[in-house]
Amino acid sequence: MLNVKDEHQDIRQAVRELCSEFPNEYFRRKDEERAYPEEFVVALTKAGWMAALIPEEYGGGGLSLTQASVVLEEINRSGGNSGACHGQMYNMATLLRHGSEEQKRKYLPKVASGELRLQCMAITEPSTGTDTTKIKTMATKKDNRYVISGQKVWVSRVQHSDLMILLARTTPLASVKKKSDGMSIFLVDLRQASGQQLSIAPIRNMVNHETNEMYFDNLEIPADSLIGEEGKGFKYILDGLNAERALIAAECIGDGYWFIDKVVKYTSERVVFGRPIAQNQGVQFPIAKAYVDLEAANLMRYLACELYDAQQPCGAEANMAKLLAADASWQSANVCLQFHGGFGFACDYDVERKFRETRLYQVAPVSTNLILSFVAEHVLGLPRSF
Ligand SMILES: Cc1cc2nc3c(=O)[nH]c(=O)nc-3n(C[C@H](O)[C@H](O)[C@H](O)COP(=O)(O)OP(=O)(O)OC[C@H]3O[C@@H](n4cnc5c(N)ncnc54)[C@H](O)[C@@H]3O)c2cc1C
Repeated sequence: MLNVKDEHQDIRQAVRELCSEFPNEYFRRKDEERAYPEEFVVALTKAGWMAALIPEEYGGGGLSLTQASVVLEEINRSGGNSGACHGQMYNMATLLRHGSEEQKRKYLPKVASGELRLQCMAITEPSTGTDTTKIKTMATKKDNRYVISGQKVWVSRVQHSDLMILLARTTPLASVKKKSDGMSIFLVDLRQASGQQLSIAPIRNMVNHETNEMYFDNLEIPADSLIGEEGKGFKYILDGLNAERALIAAECIGDGYWFIDKVVKYTSERVVFGRPIAQNQGVQFPIAKAYVDLEAANLMRYLACELYDAQQPCGAEANMAKLLAADASWQSANVCLQFHGGFGFACDYDVERKFRETRLYQVAPVSTNLILSFVAEHVLGLPRSF
């Protein structure tokens, strides 16, 4: 494969070796059982990849976002799926950039060693969806505690996490000047938050993604769980989301290469009408087009990561990278399924599993429409629609 910017062969090689111990059969079985790939996540932890973005001074790998994105790309490219482990990378950005030194010293070394997992982030709510500033979950300060009430939905990996990033309103929407004010971020220690004040209900879904509804009924957490300044949480979350968009783009790129490799091999070997089906331009061209779009999306992914690493504004690039890469992986998935004919639908080929997995990126963690809306309004200056 063409890879103009590949300065990361050592990381690729190490992740590929680890992933080779978890072949397609492993992920297929986990998918069938809707089971969490615990052995895989433990292996990633032992190899240090789960601590990739934690600075070395806290015991982590001290990698850049660009390097971390290569780890996720390689997981998806190997036939696996990063959904079980990527949360720890996304969530790190919020804590690293906005957490206090005390919070970092308390938690990061334990996360780096694997003693604790910081795998989940609760933003989405059932009644407000993408309209995040309308969230209703409230955190009310009482002496040295915050008391949390509300509901979240689609909180992934919470059953495999000790710590959770939570976005809640600390000032009601009706009392703030700007709708993005008055929200705050908390680092919730889930080990101290079980029982009647917090309940969790798993959501069975189209892919093997451990995700849940959460109900907070006057859950009390220590006041020092607050990250940064009260009321500024929306801004902090946006910073974290840029990292998330760029990392997701890399996962999509990994999926895209997996689909292209798979379809190139299959169509070159599959003989119908006395010749390989890939000899037909009606087969070649859609594959070539998907590959061209994938390579172009990959350039935007690297640009987004590099801007993020240089602490430059990267909202536009991170969003565009996510959109282009999600579209390119979906296009690659479609051609791969199409040119496997009936065999594309057979579970043993893994194409249908990866097809389902890569479809998610059109909707989560941010839908394609909302990215277009961001570009229209914030990059092009078109009138606001909401
Ligand atoms: C498997 C999975 C895992 C997830 N994990 C997490 C997680 O860990 N933490 C978390 O907080 N959330 C998580 N989510 C939630 C995810 O981020 C949201 O589902 C996603 O952002 C879309 O929000 P919604 O489902 O409420 O859709 P809605 O906001 O109801 O939107 C539905 C559709 O309408 C379109 N739409 C909405 N408004 C507009 C508009 N103004 N203009 C044009 N189109 C519009 C959207 O594009 C979307 O496709 C997860 C979701 C899934 C499916």
